[in-house]
Amino acid sequence: MNPNCTTAMYWVFVVSFLACCFFFVDTTTYAFTIYQPTPKDVEISEELNERIDDLLIGQEEKAWEYHDKLLRMYNTRIARDGETWRMYILSNLIDHINSHYLSDIEKLDFISDDSVTKFVSRNVPYNDPWYVPKDLVRLYDSSTVLIAHGTSSAEWPFHLIRRDIYDATILLSQAYAKRFNERLKINSAFRSFEMQRDNYSEQCRLNKICAYPGFSEHQWGLTIDIWGMHGEKYLWMKKSAHKFWFHQSYQHGYEHDHYHKEPWHRRYVDESFATELHETWMTFTQWYEERFASKQ
Ligand SMILES: [Zn+2]
Repeated sequence: MNPNCTTAMYWVFVVSFLACCFFFVDTTTYAFTIYQPTPKDVEISEELNERIDDLLIGQEEKAWEYHDKLLRMYNTRIARDGETWRMYILSNLIDHINSHYLSDIEKLDFISDDSVTKFVSRNVPYNDPWYVPKDLVRLYDSSTVLIAHGTSSAEWPFHLIRRDIYDATILLSQAYAKRFNERLKINSAFRSFEMQRDNYSEQCRLNKICAYPGFSEHQWGLTIDIWGMHGEKYLWMKKSAHKFWFHQSYQHGYEHDHYHKEPWHRRYVDESFATELHETWMTFTQWYEERFASKQ
């Protein structure tokens, strides 16, 4: 072979090799740069991993301690706007605890404002006190529903409820109408923070009969007040409402429920939980506090 040709091939090889090396290093660096975690990501993942490791090597009791701690943190509203990384960590921890240790009912979400099993009480507000559900729909008069206004300040020809309970409310009203040959008279449903604030009065405060704005089960649109709940109608509702996934939140008195008895008040929960509460004869508050709050 011509020596010049050999030299030329040598240089072509060297240049190609260097070009490949440069391309490889450059693209690797580029890729590494793209996926390089930010300091904030590192902070999140380190704390998250540490806590999850603790959790996974612990016993069930330890998991419950974490669970209770998380509930306390939420309930005391440490996880506030602007602390999104903390929310991220807590939600991941809850997922892990739920998937490792809890039964189906205990997996229910009692914390998120949007959850149908959100727990609110005299001492437990919404995470966002001004929370307004995104899926409110109008409930009008029908052959089985009669719109009335009691505690609601709005005198509209409808009540607002969340889409989640629309069908359940209609089914409950149909069963009621069939049994008593009259429409189910609903006198209050969704009440916003502002409406609750307007309703709240000195009388409420003295008699402890009303929820503070930001603490009412009516604020998340999954609760209805039913007119005429006494005698036979009340007993029927007590025996039947859980079949439509409704629960009477306040039935055992102030000492147990932190509100006086309210025969008219029905909140929606989910199917398994409505059955659980019905079968155990407990109110949501009693069940929740026995399971969680007593450990705080
Ligand atoms: Zn009510």
